[in-house]
Formats: sequence, C-alpha cells, structure tokens
Amino acid sequence: MVAGKPADPLAEALLAWYAAAGRHALPWRHTRDPYALWLAEIMLQQTQVATVIPYYERFLARFPRVEDLAAATPDEVLHLWSGLGYYSRARNLHAAARLIVQDFQGRFPRALDALTALPGIGRSTAGAILSSAFDASHPILDGNVKRVLCRYHAFAGDPASAEGQRLLWDWAAAHTPAPGAHLYNQAIQDLGATVCRRRQPQCLLCPLQSRCQAFAQGLSEALPRPRVRRILPVRQAWLGIIRNPEGRVLLQRQGPSGLWGGLWILPQMPRRPDSPPEAAAEGFSEQMGTPLSVVSTWPAGRHSFSHFHLDYVPVELLCRQPQAREAGALQWIDPRAPGVRGLAKPTERILRLLAPPAEPGD
Ligand code: SF4
Repeated sequence: MVAGKPADPLAEALLAWYAAAGRHALPWRHTRDPYALWLAEIMLQQTQVATVIPYYERFLARFPRVEDLAAATPDEVLHLWSGLGYYSRARNLHAAARLIVQDFQGRFPRALDALTALPGIGRSTAGAILSSAFDASHPILDGNVKRVLCRYHAFAGDPASAEGQRLLWDWAAAHTPAPGAHLYNQAIQDLGATVCRRRQPQCLLCPLQSRCQAFAQGLSEALPRPRVRRILPVRQAWLGIIRNPEGRVLLQRQGPSGLWGGLWILPQMPRRPDSPPEAAAEGFSEQMGTPLSVVSTWPAGRHSFSHFHLDYVPVELLCRQPQAREAGALQWIDPRAPGVRGLAKPTERILRLLAPPAEPGD
C-alpha cells in the first residue's frame, strides 16, 4: 500500500462519482504526454470543450511533439489557432515550446517552479499538467474548481481577493489526495462543468450534496459572489479593405506583442464619429503614399477585447498603383487563398465575404 494523505470525504465522494460519470471520452483523457496535456489546458482556458476538440486534434496532428511546435513559424502556429481567440495563448505556447527544447532538451520540466517560469503557464495550469502526466500531488484552481470549492465551503467573500485566493488555494491543497491527484483533479473539473454548473447546479445529482454548505444554506446558485462587471470603453476605427485592380487585398502583419500580436489584419485607423469614407481614403492614402479612391462602405461591426470594444466600419478602397508599398509587414493576398497565416477575427470574416465558397457545379 502506498502511504499518502489521510482520506478526505470530498475527494472520496468525487473519485467514486468520477469513475461512473466522468468525461472519460475527452481526447486529452487518453494521454499522459505532458505536451498534449499542456496544449489541452491552454486551449481550454476561456474556451468551451466542444470548440477546443477539433483545434486540439488538428494541432497535435500537425505538431505531434514539442520539437515540432518549437520549429514552426509564428504564422503556422497562429494559422492553426485562427478562430480560437485570445492569441496571446498561442504566442506563449510557441515561446514556451522553444524554451523547453532549448533549455530542457525537449523534456518537460517536472518541478512546479520551472514550469510556472515558462510563458503562459500559471500555478493551476502547471498543477493540472504535473498531476495528469506524473500523478504529482499538485492542486488546481481553475474556474470550475473555484466554483465547487466556494459552494462546498459556502464562501461568500470575493474569490478574486487576496484573502479569497489564499483560502481557495488552501482548500484545494487540503482536498487533493496523494497519490490520486491525477484522477481527483479531473473529477473536480468535471463536477464543476457538468453538475455544479454556474447556473442551475444539479444538487440533487451531486455526490457532495450531504456535506455541501451552500446546499445546506440554500445558497447553491447565489455562490460564488458574482464579479462586478466593468463597463468597457468603445473605440472607433476604419478597417481598410484596400484592393488592387486584380482584386487582391492588402493585409498588414501586427508586431509580435500587443493587440492581435503576430496576426494579419486589414489596415486600421482611428475614426471620428460621422466622418465620411473620404476621410478614411485620405488617411490610408497618406499611410501608403499612394492615392486611394472609395468604392463603398460596409455595415459596421464590433469586436470586443478584454478591456475595450472596437466598433469598426469597413471601407472598400481601390489602389491603382499597388506595387509601391508591398513589404514584409504588408502583403497583397488573394482573398480566396489567404495562405498559412493567422488572421484577426474581423479580417477573417471580411475575407470570407469577399470570397464566398464556390457553389456546387461552379
Ligand atoms: Fe455544487 Fe450543489 Fe454539489 Fe454543492 S451540492 S457542490 S452547490 S452541485
């Protein structure tokens, strides 16, 4: 028998429930490869499981080992990430893969400190990787786990406060078994995702019900305390759909960091409310050093970042002397075949509208 921590009632109940009702079919549940587990953990941050599965499978098929990812170009990585959003995750994943190859000879670090020193890997992600790959006894504290623990302990304070964080990490560590962290961490994530849901928790089906303080106090749905939503500022921009006489469209690559870092976008400039499309033509003409004429304006759209909304108006412009301005960060592309590159979401949407898929029989 392996010596370990004394049995914890929450962990015991969860492990029994997980054996019968866990999400065992998820593709990352069939591997102990830390690289694949890391990829899944990063993709699952801020993204639903159903959305992640095809991205995860495509990414692993293209980059089966950390060495393959490290050797890829930023465009290849961002291209495969296109549509998943939060692109800093992809940039950090790529940078961390290069460090793992360069500093650790491609072997995943097993120490929590070494893992959390890599870009984009926080304590909870590191704990999930180390417990799933090596059954190391590290707690995790993602959104699902926080919710279960806040309710189980009827924590009515602010989970994001320093005090809330300290308590939640203490509870997470106290409940995590050793050995058995591997299955326990998956079990508590699954309970949060499928039973102890944010809205309408399924308390009558829950294996923790008899000990859950929130249930006992009739507070299941009221906890955790909701975050106060900030009202985000709005910025206005023109998106230039600048076309040459052959119908190619000008794209610009963003610098490696910041908004849409490393992605290709339609050129953008600030827009004053009520300014006419000719103002956009004038501004983009100046930027490009060549005259542009207005073809049409398109319906406005909104893209929301974490700290502001971008309200944009696409304006289609014709450039009669296109060759003068093509350089590394500016390229004329065929909208039907944008190539291997990461595209910002509004840009991807507009390119799709410019080049609708061919009708059967075309
Ligand atoms: Fe969540 Fe309800 Fe289970 Fe408590 S009893 S852990 S509130 S589902």
